[in-house]
Amino acid sequence: MEETRGLRHEKITSDESNGSPKLNKLNINTILIILGILITISIIAFLYNKKLKNDRLNHYDYIIVGSGLYGATFNYFAKKKGKKTLVIEKRNVTGGNLYCPKIEGIYVHRYGPHVFHTDNKTIWDFVNSLVEFTPYITQSIAKSKGKLYTLPYNMWTFNQMWEISKPEQANDKIEEQKYKGEIYNLEDQAISIIGKDIYDRFIKENIRKEWDRECQNLPPFIIPSLPKRFIYDTNYFYKDRYQGIPVGCYNALFDVLLKDTEISLGTDYIPNKERYEPAADKIIFTGRIDEYYNYTYTPLEYRTVRWVDKIENVDNFQGSAVIHYPDFDINYTRVVEHKHFDPYNKQIQSKKKTIVSYEYYEEWNEDKECLYPLNDEKNNNLYLKYKEEADKLSNVYFGGRLGQYKYYDMDKVIFEALNFVNNIKKK
Ligand SMILES: Cc1cc2nc3c(=O)[nH]c(=O)nc-3n(C[C@H](O)[C@H](O)[C@H](O)COP(=O)(O)OP(=O)(O)OC[C@H]3O[C@@H](n4cnc5c(N)ncnc54)[C@H](O)[C@@H]3O)c2cc1C
Repeated sequence: MEETRGLRHEKITSDESNGSPKLNKLNINTILIILGILITISIIAFLYNKKLKNDRLNHYDYIIVGSGLYGATFNYFAKKKGKKTLVIEKRNVTGGNLYCPKIEGIYVHRYGPHVFHTDNKTIWDFVNSLVEFTPYITQSIAKSKGKLYTLPYNMWTFNQMWEISKPEQANDKIEEQKYKGEIYNLEDQAISIIGKDIYDRFIKENIRKEWDRECQNLPPFIIPSLPKRFIYDTNYFYKDRYQGIPVGCYNALFDVLLKDTEISLGTDYIPNKERYEPAADKIIFTGRIDEYYNYTYTPLEYRTVRWVDKIENVDNFQGSAVIHYPDFDINYTRVVEHKHFDPYNKQIQSKKKTIVSYEYYEEWNEDKECLYPLNDEKNNNLYLKYKEEADKLSNVYFGGRLGQYKYYDMDKVIFEALNFVNNIKKK
């Protein structure tokens, strides 16, 4: 029985090989193998083609390294002059430190709070010709020992400090507290400008927190001046006639500055220098000048901060865009509530949530964001060595805060880029 059953079984399988399931299985396997080979060949051909295309770069008048405000402004004007440009950006987004991602529908000033302010009407008219601006006046508040004060120092601050109301009283108070001796350190410097009470309340502990050192052990140049006014005005950028934030945040400004531009995102220029440099008449480099030279004279140093975001389930967390925390026992330095930068945006204002970012000062190292150039004597001299090298190059120009190792407000960045581009002849 068993044998018969086995025979029968064999027979059945041999039947299958004549147009039966076994043959079908074989065919399917063959088809699958052929298909696999074809797909692999197509992928290889596609990648090879792409590589060939990539290797054959177009030629450009300008390759602009960095899509921050300097690079993007340069790009805008160069294109207006009929120049062919390529922007290379190592991040996956454009805008440099002005990039504002949307979290919970609220624009977040990712690299720190940014308010456009200027006293230059040409620059103000220019940015307003590109995007609409939300009127915004920067008002700053400091919370110390549980009490709130307005900054920069004005009659409100003096009233909150000493309960005085007249400008003359405030002036006398500061004058009698000023240090009048030789200036050896940051403490001497600060007290000589603003007096002891204000130094003790707002500067001493804050500096210790920022620099991890006492003011007596820091150089005076860190605080070259301290703004103070004997009027009741809380406008932080009171020296500038124009102030605001683009509607749609800075992303909207970059959409215009980089419109119809060829952009290579996620591309670091440095390791690809040999490939890109011959592809343009000129390179506008807005990355780190020391990095361009492979840190030949050792790296330039920066200061940096770190932000920690929190989503709060309230419509209004602190009632202000920025509150400073100068006291040493509070380890963050500022708290930023982003929705207050957009006071007229009904959609954002009606949200029952808010995004709050805590700012912490951090020791800078090569892996961290280079935010503020550390323009002390040592670093300034080091920069001059790099600049000397840069001046020898006729096809590479170094611009912006990293290329020129200098803190620039936004209006100055636009001014610099505009000045440089103005020397370009129209095509
Ligand atoms: C915390 C903070 C707050 C500020 N607040 C204000 C304010 O309220 N008002 C004001 O007017 N100004 C403010 N500023 C200044 C403002 O941020 C700068 O003026 C402006 O961002 C400088 O633009 P930039 O193009 O020079 O540099 P960036 O914005 O840094 O742009 C440089 C770009 O180059 C890219 N890049 C670098 N290296 C390479 C490379 N090797 N390859 C490819 N891409 C590269 C970077 O990724 C970046 O996108 C503030 C600055 C800071 C740090």
